[in-house]
Amino acid sequence: MNTKPRGRQFFFNPGPTNIPDRVLSAMHRPVIDFLSEEFLEIQDRVRAGLKRILKTKQHVLMYGANGHGAWEAAIVNLFSPGDTVLVIETGRFSKSWGQLATSAGLKIETLAADWRHGPAPDALQARLVEDKAHTIKGVLVVHNETSTGMAHPVAAYRKAIDAAKHPALYLVDTISSLASIDFRMDEWGVDVAVGGSQKGLMMVTGLSFTGISEKAFEAHKTAKLYRGYWDWQEMLSMKPQRFTGTSPVHLVCGLDEAIRILDEEGLDAVFARHSRLAKAVRACVTHWGGGAVADVRVDGGGFKGEVGALSLLSADPSRLSDSVTAILVPTGSSVDRLRKAALNRYNLSLGGGLDVLSGKAFRIGHMGDLNEPMVLGALATCELALRAADVPHAPGGVTAALDALADAA
Ligand SMILES: *Cc1c(COP(=O)(O)O)cnc(C)c1O
Repeated sequence: MNTKPRGRQFFFNPGPTNIPDRVLSAMHRPVIDFLSEEFLEIQDRVRAGLKRILKTKQHVLMYGANGHGAWEAAIVNLFSPGDTVLVIETGRFSKSWGQLATSAGLKIETLAADWRHGPAPDALQARLVEDKAHTIKGVLVVHNETSTGMAHPVAAYRKAIDAAKHPALYLVDTISSLASIDFRMDEWGVDVAVGGSQKGLMMVTGLSFTGISEKAFEAHKTAKLYRGYWDWQEMLSMKPQRFTGTSPVHLVCGLDEAIRILDEEGLDAVFARHSRLAKAVRACVTHWGGGAVADVRVDGGGFKGEVGALSLLSADPSRLSDSVTAILVPTGSSVDRLRKAALNRYNLSLGGGLDVLSGKAFRIGHMGDLNEPMVLGALATCELALRAADVPHAPGGVTAALDALADAA
């Protein structure tokens, strides 16, 4: 007997995300020579599209890899063994990027912070002012921290680096913000922007890329870590410029279609839609918890305190993410039971809590190919799962979401 619920699965993980049928169809094609005129034209169009989305006129290089590959590319191309980089602590993803840099042979310093707030730009400035010898060679930040549902102030951190008159390179992970939340590589003075295909870009996993500033490209020329597959100079010197080895033709064709879809809607409209849907999710969650604000502390060391009612994890309203919401569950309730009820009974896939948030929070992804009926369906079903898993909540969250959407119209 097949017990899998009927109907299309409602997929609300914060990555990967729903893949539009048009994107899937664009990949359903015979193979073509990756050096043919036909393919090179598609590849050029995709690179130009990525530049528009990153808002950069500088270099963009692509890899056949998930986001971790582009994370590694950024590190190994810019630094030498023993160099120090400063990681702005925001949550699980900032921690993982730092760990990757450590394993590549770098020294890591962390600008520590409570994950429900993230560091203030002033704290970054103060740390860099202290570094009179300019030991810190790079500053790493995750724009949209997918584990906490918080978007951190990339432009304000840049201003802090400038105010400290510090020459460190500025590296930004845009994997879960790009094409969901505004990001401006050149205007915000970002040296390397790391992106991946399977979040806001609505594509399958396996294609990632870096935007690279001229300053970063200069630094790269003398950096000494082993680069192998990721070597920017090698990649840029290939004529025509392409991937290292055989190009993943089908992935590029899929991304071409995804970018076409984004262009048809227009990036500003894409951001407005994400903002509208995010407000609806937050209104619903806030209703479920009766407006409670949790009195807990979350940082790399662990989770301290008890949660009284369902509530937003972020304690800073100005940093709420428009692409993912992390929700604290009342102490004594089971996130696992909730997610299993949602998935096994109702075919709704929700994200779990990561790292120190495991068992403490769940996440609703709202990035990519989504509209109002999908989000309302997911919220209503999530409420059904809250009932099924005995998680205390005020019923009727969807009405709050409807009100938020009506206000936004
Ligand atoms: C998903 C994600 C990553 C990791 O991407 P992979 O494709 O899983 O390697 C890195 N950073 C952020 C912010 C993410 O959301």
